[in-house]
Amino acid sequence: MFFNKDIETIERSSLVKLQEERLKKALEAANATKFYSQRFKENNIDISKIKTIEHLRDLPFTTKNDLRLSYPDGMCAVPREKVVRMHASSGTTGKSTVIFYTKKDVSEWAAQVARGMYSAGMRSTDVFQNMMGYGLFTGGLGLHYGGELLGCMVIPTSTGNSPKQIELMQDFGSTIMHITPSYALHLGEVIRNEYKINPRDLPVKKAILGAEPYSEETKKKIEELWGVDAYNNYGLSEMNGPGVAFECTHKSGMHLAEDYYIAEIINPETCEPVPDGEFGELVLTHVNREAMPIIRYRTRDLTRFIPGTCGCGRTMRRLDRIKGRSDDMLIISGVNVFPSQIEGVIMGIPEVGNNYQIVVDRENNLDRLHVRVELYAKMFSGDVKELEKLKSVITNRLKSVIIVTPRIEFCEPGSLPASMGKAVRVIDHRKL
Ligand code: ADP
Ligand code: ZN
Repeated sequence: MFFNKDIETIERSSLVKLQEERLKKALEAANATKFYSQRFKENNIDISKIKTIEHLRDLPFTTKNDLRLSYPDGMCAVPREKVVRMHASSGTTGKSTVIFYTKKDVSEWAAQVARGMYSAGMRSTDVFQNMMGYGLFTGGLGLHYGGELLGCMVIPTSTGNSPKQIELMQDFGSTIMHITPSYALHLGEVIRNEYKINPRDLPVKKAILGAEPYSEETKKKIEELWGVDAYNNYGLSEMNGPGVAFECTHKSGMHLAEDYYIAEIINPETCEPVPDGEFGELVLTHVNREAMPIIRYRTRDLTRFIPGTCGCGRTMRRLDRIKGRSDDMLIISGVNVFPSQIEGVIMGIPEVGNNYQIVVDRENNLDRLHVRVELYAKMFSGDVKELEKLKSVITNRLKSVIIVTPRIEFCEPGSLPASMGKAVRVIDHRKL
């Protein structure tokens, strides 16, 4: 049932004690960095007074920009000779930021990730095809070491090269794949249309999905297309990478590795904590890392803690699916719209295929939202009236969710840019 029962089922009070012990060490390590020693000094912070999780709230936040400003190693707490690896974030929203790891950090991360994968039902007999980017991006190597620690055979295919992915999957009987949701949809389509193979007939039984926001509807679509059981996995390079929170087989949220992180959920505008169970921005303090003890990091990711306990017996709290990033939010004619809301609606419509694109521009000083939607090929052989009807169904459903009236454009399958890694689905011409 468990990879490490003692820690996975730890009682709350013991967990808090462990977190606070680790917090003390993390603050001492932070104080050894150029960045934090200066920040603490400027704010008259005496870290020896920060003893509890409540006290932690007195400390300033750390942002992605702080990481950029301290480039290359202003946030590194150990001498260079103790560092065994570095990674860099993919730079979705700007210049990349660098994270360092000691030998201990790498092995602790592997144990964290292995535990999460185990909770999703992965065992040593599994063949694990890891289709996340290897290299500076944490997605590939992060789960790679977890898979090895579990004793699985790991196939490090990385992203792209669909023909090779398919060949290896068939020849080595991959049972679990780790893949971005957008690439899962694309690859499934390639297998079905170009190889004339039903993805459901392949040996893959489970998919670990992560690295980008996606909706429940997209997850269902992937499960249907591949005939797999899909599990959500959340992470960000600043907090190690994938495996920060992992869905267990009860599939009711992702257990946060709370022995590694102290989490807060705040209102992104006021920065005050939100009431328990409400959505807000996730703020994480890494308390189990030697090289980069990041304090109160504003992830920009919007989620909430799911109230109650999980049927699996794990006591670590569960995060809800990430709704999006606070900086992803589009303001269209004054209305706040998250791309994930749009995705949730269109992916729930059976005629809609596997890709879409959101384009926002300005016409005569008015914001316009265009949603380009790929339809399955069979839809184009029928009646034009049917297409018009479908268009108005989609328009109305979207309007009821996002208030804004979109212009829908239908596209042939495979005509929108395909994603091999993290998908770029929003083009905002107002910002270009
Ligand atoms: P960057 O911030 O440059 O994209 P990362 O590669 O570290 O750098 O990406 C981490 C981000 O990816 C997270 O902050 C989050 O927005 C997104 N992400 C990762 N996993 C998930 C997931 N399971 N669901 C939704 N979003 C995710
Ligand atoms: Zn659980």
